[in-house]
Amino acid sequence: MAGIYIHIPFCKSKCAYCNFFSVVSEKRRDDFLDALKREAEARKDYLGEEEVKTVYFGGGTPSIMRASEISEILDCLKKNYKIAAASEITLEANPDTVSKESLFAYKSLGINRLSIGIQSFFDDDLQYLSRKHDSKHARQVLEWAQEVGFQEITLDLIYGIPTLTDEKWRKNLEIFFSTGFNHLSAYALTVEEKTALGQRINKGVAAPVCEDATIRQYEILCEATENHGFEHYEISNFARPGHYSKHNTIYWKGEKYLGLGPSAHSFDGVSRQWNVAGVKDYCESYSFEREQLTPDDRYNEYIMTSLRTMWGVDLEYLRLNFGEKYAEKFEKGVENHISSGKMFRKDQNFILNDNGMLFADGIAAELFF
Ligand code: SF4
Repeated sequence: MAGIYIHIPFCKSKCAYCNFFSVVSEKRRDDFLDALKREAEARKDYLGEEEVKTVYFGGGTPSIMRASEISEILDCLKKNYKIAAASEITLEANPDTVSKESLFAYKSLGINRLSIGIQSFFDDDLQYLSRKHDSKHARQVLEWAQEVGFQEITLDLIYGIPTLTDEKWRKNLEIFFSTGFNHLSAYALTVEEKTALGQRINKGVAAPVCEDATIRQYEILCEATENHGFEHYEISNFARPGHYSKHNTIYWKGEKYLGLGPSAHSFDGVSRQWNVAGVKDYCESYSFEREQLTPDDRYNEYIMTSLRTMWGVDLEYLRLNFGEKYAEKFEKGVENHISSGKMFRKDQNFILNDNGMLFADGIAAELFF
C-alpha cells in the first residue's frame, strides 16, 4: 500500500509565518495543471504494483482549485495508478477560498476527508499570523462542511501565538470539541528567520514567541484532548481511536509515497527525491533531485519519525531491519530517557510520553547512528 501527495503551489496571499513553498500569482495555473498531469503519467512506475490507499491534496491552498480542476487530476491518477476503492482522499481547505457550493462539489468528486486551516477562532491571532479569513467566516465554513456531509474533518490550530492567552487557547479547543470532529492537528508556532514574521520580530514590530507560554499551551492541549477521548498519536496530531490520518501515517511508518507537483517529496523505502520548487521551472521540466539512503540514514529517519508517534520505536523491527548493532545502540541510548521519565517501554516498543514528546527532536538526535 502506498500514498500519493499532490502539491498545489498557489495561495491567495502569503501568511507571515509560512515556510512552505507557495506563490500568490496564479498566472501559470493552466500550465501547472498540464505539467502535473504529465508528471503523474511519467512517474506511473514509481510505486510499481502497489495499491494506492491515500491521496492527499496539500499546499499551498488546494481549495483555490476549482472542482473541475481537482476532478481532472483525480481522473489522471485513476488512469495511471491503482487507486484502492476505499482510499482516503484528503483536501486541505483554507476558509478564505471556499463556499458551500465548492465544498459540495469537492465531496461529489469523492474527496472524503477535509483538512481545514482554521489556526484560531480569534481575529487578533489571525491578524498576527496575517491569515486572510476571520473567525466568523471560519465558523461558517465548519457549518458548511458538516451540512454538505463530510464525515472526516480535521482542523489545524496553532498555539504559542503571542496574542493567544491560555484562556483563548482553551476556548479554541472548546469550539473544536463542540464540532464533534474526530481529528485535530495542533502546531506550536515556530518562527523561521527568513519569513515575514521572523523579520518583523527581529525589527521589534511584532511580539516574539514566548517558550513558556508555548509549553503551557501544549500541556493544556494534551490534557484537554485526553479528557475528550482523543489519542495523542503523533506529536502534533490527535484523533479519536481509529480516525488517524491514513496518509500522514504512511510518512510516519516509513511506507512508500509519491509526491507530485513543485517541491513535492517522494520516498520508495531506499531513496528520497524532491521536485524542483519554482512553478515556472516545474512547468518547463518537472525535474527532481534524488538521494540514495544509507542504512544509517534509514535508521536515523526511522528513529526520528517513530519517536514522534504513540507507537514509538519497535526494538524487534530495528533488529530485523537494521541488525543487532543498531538495536544495541538504541537500547543503551534510551536508558537515561526512561529513568528521567520521558520515555516508557511497552513490550518491544519504546514510546515518549507527552512530556518526552516536547524533546523528541533532541532525543532522536542523541540516538542517531
Ligand atoms: S495558506 Fe498555508 S501555504 Fe498558503 S501562505 Fe498561508 S500558511 Fe502558507
